[in-house]
Amino acid sequence: MTTRSNNWSVQTTSAQALGLIDQGTKSLVLPTYSATTYQRDADNQYTSGNVYSRDDNPTYKPVEALLTELEEGAESLLFSSGMAAAVAVFQALKPGDHVIAPKVMYWSLRNWLLGFAREWGLLVELVDTTDLKAVEAAIQPQQTRLIWLETPGNPLWTVSDIEAIVSLAKADNILLAVDSTCATPVLSKPLTLGADIVMHSATKYLNGHSDVIAGALVTKRQDDFWQRIRSLRKHGGAVLSPQDATQLLRGMRTLFIRVRESSNNALWLAQQLQQLPQVKRVWYPGLTDFPGHEIACRQMPGGFGGMLSIQVEGGEQAAITTAAETQLWKRATSLGGVESLIEHRASVEGAGSPVPDDLLRLSTGIESAEDLLADLKSALEYAHH
Ligand code: PLP
Repeated sequence: MTTRSNNWSVQTTSAQALGLIDQGTKSLVLPTYSATTYQRDADNQYTSGNVYSRDDNPTYKPVEALLTELEEGAESLLFSSGMAAAVAVFQALKPGDHVIAPKVMYWSLRNWLLGFAREWGLLVELVDTTDLKAVEAAIQPQQTRLIWLETPGNPLWTVSDIEAIVSLAKADNILLAVDSTCATPVLSKPLTLGADIVMHSATKYLNGHSDVIAGALVTKRQDDFWQRIRSLRKHGGAVLSPQDATQLLRGMRTLFIRVRESSNNALWLAQQLQQLPQVKRVWYPGLTDFPGHEIACRQMPGGFGGMLSIQVEGGEQAAITTAAETQLWKRATSLGGVESLIEHRASVEGAGSPVPDDLLRLSTGIESAEDLLADLKSALEYAHH
């Protein structure tokens, strides 16, 4: 593989997948290495660097290198899912370590933290991470090892101030990790704001086509903690299939245009939906009166993302009927694909969720914004007729 030559913008780097080509064949599309095992040299060495595909796979290399470049990190690791990537960070801690995580976050990880992680001895504390005083008060000197943020936080799109929380964390040598799935490196770069690790559910915007489950971590430093995470992937075996890695790289080549289009659509829709009588409240960091909007302007200079939520007048049943009546918006979980998705979130998250029961989560795709609005409007009108 040849490497790129220089000074390209991140958009160019992404579209060109770092400008890499396969040296042997000159193929513009990089090969997928499906082998699980590699030949040892006659002198008992592995000079190729490849041994066994649970340790690592050459197909991952360009994907990880591209993500490292986009996030301005030191190294990346692909995982078999976003959850596998996130869980690896917590499993690299030790029993008795105290961790702070947001009250508003991806529900499945919250449940894992409150269940498995606590049973395994992590002292997990959920805090309103939009409130700096609450974060400061939760820090236990010498015992807090990690602060986990998710910003914007799923599904209320709460904005946490990464730089301000980095200052609190650094004073006590605490690691800061950010789930940046919904922001993507197009809109926000947590490592440049002082975070230590960035996590992505690559299933979402990085891949972008709702056909790969994948996760990734990017580190700012290749330190001992990072080596523990690498070792967890190798020994725990949460590895991505090489075919999925190739498909993910293809998705990442259109990341910039997809994310910008979704984000522009979402901003326009949020502004329009605010004016509809059937909509009680719109949750979107791009709205000027949204709490955290100013922080979002600073930390997401490229836009506010493709995710928004609405609370519907008339309560839970009106929300469910609205979702049932949309034609263009597909009723499905997940987010970050080119097609728009609508979901009654409380039905998914169940008891203990901070999500109101009249809330619909909208993952805005890259369709025409006017078509998306017309479809939502007619579903809302039906639900309130
Ligand atoms: N983080 C966020 C913000 C998510 O939305 C999701 C999935 O919905 C995950 C993490 C988990 O990712 P995966 O489904 O790839 O395991």
